[in-house]
Amino acid sequence: MASLYKDLHFLLIPLMSQSHIIPLNDFAKLLALHGVHVSIITTPFNAQKYKSIVTYATKFNLKIQLIPIHFPSQEVGLPQGCENLDALNSLELIKDFFLASDMMQEPLEKLIQDLEPKPSCIISTSPLIWTQQVANKFKIPRYVFQTISCFTLYCSNILNQTNIQDTLVVDSDSFLIPNVPHNIEFTKAQLPNGSQDMNSILDKMKKSQDLARGTLINSFEELESWYVDAYKKDVNKVFCVGSVSLCNKEMDDEMVDINCLNWLDSMKPKSVIYVCFGSLCNISFMQMKEIGLGLESSNVAFIWIIRGLNFTLEVEKWLRDENFEEKVKGRGMIIRGWAPQVMILSHPSVGGFLTHCGWNSTLEGISCGVPMITFPMFAEQFYNEKFIVNVLKTGVRVGVEVINDPWNKEKNGVPVNKDRIKKAIDQLMDKGLEGEERRKRAKELAQISKKAIQEEGSSYLNIKLLIEDVMHVLKNKVEKNE
Ligand code: UDP
Repeated sequence: MASLYKDLHFLLIPLMSQSHIIPLNDFAKLLALHGVHVSIITTPFNAQKYKSIVTYATKFNLKIQLIPIHFPSQEVGLPQGCENLDALNSLELIKDFFLASDMMQEPLEKLIQDLEPKPSCIISTSPLIWTQQVANKFKIPRYVFQTISCFTLYCSNILNQTNIQDTLVVDSDSFLIPNVPHNIEFTKAQLPNGSQDMNSILDKMKKSQDLARGTLINSFEELESWYVDAYKKDVNKVFCVGSVSLCNKEMDDEMVDINCLNWLDSMKPKSVIYVCFGSLCNISFMQMKEIGLGLESSNVAFIWIIRGLNFTLEVEKWLRDENFEEKVKGRGMIIRGWAPQVMILSHPSVGGFLTHCGWNSTLEGISCGVPMITFPMFAEQFYNEKFIVNVLKTGVRVGVEVINDPWNKEKNGVPVNKDRIKKAIDQLMDKGLEGEERRKRAKELAQISKKAIQEEGSSYLNIKLLIEDVMHVLKNKVEKNE
């Protein structure tokens, strides 16, 4: 079978954001297992950060290459090396960032002209709408790789079609999403309510997706079967290919943090809460303090990741003045900077995940069988909270009621105090019946997710269907002499 696919060449193009690069790199590994060539297109800085994928590919005899193309950061006025969304700290810079990413179209087209084997298709994440024009130019199919769930895609389609949210007046007004099998209630304050600019980008992304040949979702059919079926009725050719984070056959040596691993090894099974808010959250100093105090008063063991815009001098000074690390010594660990999240979540000592509910983090938590405390902040994270708590029933809410704009410190206040955090931790780690049932459900879902990715599992078969779809297009091209 592999020999049949040996001349196929998939170009994977993620938006330069951790939450797009990480799942596409993982997907590259799953795809390459079928014997096809995979090239991941990114920028020099991101290629350097993720170069371990090439070592991995060599080790497992996979045909994966990483191709950097120029990112014109300085041409648009961004600082040199500013090549990832997590390096930005204002909304103004985001516009420049997208402008620079649009300018990658020309170098990409030049690259494709000389690439061997000739690319068979493009798989890119949804904000990179210009990749559709590239695909059209080279007469190859493009597939959109969605980094959100079918649940979110389907429910937000309903809102776009019904505009039910337009009837809401004040922030606390609420409504139920109609015609879905679960009670999914939103208040006005929890809905992503973008600026005009943002809404117009979302609209363009939607139109570009309509032009694509198909849509790949980092999810698995068994996880959200009703929503997958419903979404398939709305959109052409949907392939659920996840959880892609389960692709790794072994730990990435460059990501392993030995201190953290040794510390986790010394802890009791399922006793540690892992606390991480993804790659983009901008949490106010006051909120960081409340998180710290909540963790301290909980008496539960924890690993707390402090990174990016949240890692400020103010936070550092507070930790020192409070003697925080001394007070929690033996049961609390802070990682300053990037953490090996999947490695931590898959450790047997981890029994809970306090998460901002980004979809990658949500799915990683699900696939590792870890119950979650949901602390959504912005974008589609409230959808993911409702999915975890109301649909899967594997999590508890910390109690955030209002969307927090990550780039607006004024709006970005203190959604929850330390008592709420402590209460949610106690509830999640509770040894009673409710806690046990949550853990049992989480464990079952992890087992199902592992099966989905294995040979003959649903996601494995969907990847095969995707490859066959590409072959079908190529065959038609040959027959038509294009
Ligand atoms: N991540 C990580 N280490 C960190 C922070 C984040 O490995 O210290 C990874 C995490 O495993 C996930 C991604 O970064 O794959 C974050 O994506 P998500 O969709 O959860 O959130 P976003 O960053 O888009 O808010």
